[in-house]
Amino acid sequence: MPDTPADVWQDCLPTIRSLVQSQSFKTWFDPIEVDRFDPHALVIRVPDAFFKDWISEHYGWVIERAVYECKGWRPEICFQFETSTDSDPPAESASPPQIELTFPINNRYRFDNFVVGEGNEFAFSAAQAVAQEPGKTAFNPLLIYSGVGLGKTHLLQAIGHHCQTSATAKRIVFVTAEKFISDYISSIRRRDTSEFVVTYRTADILLVDDVQFFLQTEGSQREFFHTFNTLFQNDKQIVLTADCAPPNLKGFEPRLVSRFESGLVSSIDAPNIETRIAILNHKAESRGTTLPEDVARYIAERHATNVRELEGALTRVLAFAELKREHLTAGLVSRLLPQLIQSTTNRNLTLSRIQETTAEFFSLAVEELTGASRKHELAQARHVGMFLCKSLTPSPLKAIGTFFGRKDHTTVIHACRSVEKRIDADPAFRELVRQLKAKLLREGVG
Ligand code: ADP
Ligand code: MG
Repeated sequence: MPDTPADVWQDCLPTIRSLVQSQSFKTWFDPIEVDRFDPHALVIRVPDAFFKDWISEHYGWVIERAVYECKGWRPEICFQFETSTDSDPPAESASPPQIELTFPINNRYRFDNFVVGEGNEFAFSAAQAVAQEPGKTAFNPLLIYSGVGLGKTHLLQAIGHHCQTSATAKRIVFVTAEKFISDYISSIRRRDTSEFVVTYRTADILLVDDVQFFLQTEGSQREFFHTFNTLFQNDKQIVLTADCAPPNLKGFEPRLVSRFESGLVSSIDAPNIETRIAILNHKAESRGTTLPEDVARYIAERHATNVRELEGALTRVLAFAELKREHLTAGLVSRLLPQLIQSTTNRNLTLSRIQETTAEFFSLAVEELTGASRKHELAQARHVGMFLCKSLTPSPLKAIGTFFGRKDHTTVIHACRSVEKRIDADPAFRELVRQLKAKLLREGVG
């Protein structure tokens, strides 16, 4: 008896599983059924149109690759789904409501432990104003954007925290865009979106973190648009964070972008040296210790673009000093820090060194790395180069962008993100990047 489509599909699943994260596999591949599968066509049955959009956009290449690796086929891939109508009865086995109504408090993130400096004071003041009178200021929505590790989530949580402790809002809903979408998907699967709608559209304040990541499909954008309008019309507060300014958000419907821009848009810029030192002092103090000034300066000088990394360096230094029972002096830290941060930041590694080694590694000319060609191999090598500059040197994104042929800093952010994603999804790629990084670190030390 010939294999059924389901059997053939079963053969491909282990490969797919090896290419995606296990949670994503559960979410996106478990619910799939296959109606036809031969060298010409793969017909995949999915729960709905939203599911189809998402899977073909994000996992199309995974399916293609797995099918080719397992079967040597390159079939046309089509999706089928039932269009549900309002008269559909709710599914019998509808699971109990899964949407959390509460704001997950993280006491770590408050206004009083946010260090205010030049780069963030505007965003900070706006966040405070909104937390004091949600829905009543002109800042609706408030959108805060910045590169990674500069305090967006901190401020967003601080707003929620303030609303809660001073009772300026009752129903506080804090979500990552990812959670918003996964709630939306489960509600569609249960064929009952009423609870989803109630959860989000009755919020007094809706805080959505990292909108850039997950709102890139039609269904969820539409849903978010309606949620947005309902809240807005009822004078409820909306606060969003993103990794870039609204006009640079990729894949968003223009009507949504213009909503994002209709209130107040504020960026957080990388902190200057004084602010970085103040942050270090503040963090050290909250851990019951004080930093000698030259120590703080030494660390701050070496971590310019990301507060999370700054914190990480401090943690390592404190831990080490405690371990060795030595007093923290600039001398100790200057001995320590290069070792402690060698794996992430290496002083001998210059941008040009990284660029040259990356070019050589991928058998390309440096000009190809700094050029504008979008050819896949070139673009990929260029992304890897930017990613390594970002992770191995303290250079600002702007400098990296300039160095790679006058690219914008958002291009660098995008490059880093796409490399990170692929590292997660593709073991072979991960190994490649690891090798290149090891090579650079060996060279950098020598
Ligand atoms: P983002 O969401 O922008 O990536 P986070 O809000 O997660 O960044 O911040 C990264 C880390 O840096 C967090 O631990 C946060 O508390 C800390 N941090 C960022 N900015 C400041 C600041 N101005 N004062 C104190 N801590 C900060
Ligand atoms: Mg964040």
